[in-house]
Amino acid sequence: MGDVLPTCTKCGETRPRSAFPNSKHDPPRPCQPCKPCRNETRRKWYARNAQSALAINQGWRERNPHLMRLGQRRAELRRRYGLTLEDYASILERQGAFVRFVGAHNDQNTWR
Ligand SMILES: [Zn+2]
Repeated sequence: MGDVLPTCTKCGETRPRSAFPNSKHDPPRPCQPCKPCRNETRRKWYARNAQSALAINQGWRERNPHLMRLGQRRAELRRRYGLTLEDYASILERQGAFVRFVGAHNDQNTWR
């Protein structure tokens, strides 16, 4: 108990206990595979998928320039005013409704 280091079932390396994530058991047991193996799996997945993910993203941008601009607008609003596009739209909508309200009354001269 205690001194036996866990061996990874994937790479077969004996590693310090800290190289394994904890399982949800009580007391926690080392969770297979080891962290280096997990990182490696993630890295390989990324190497295999990043290129296609990027290509898909690029194609999407070219097909949806208006949505790209919307995304830029969204980012700008958030950066400059801390607003979401939805906040901004609802402010514009309220202002628009107010202008229409006032305008309508002015046109009909009902405010005298
Ligand atoms: Zn391993």
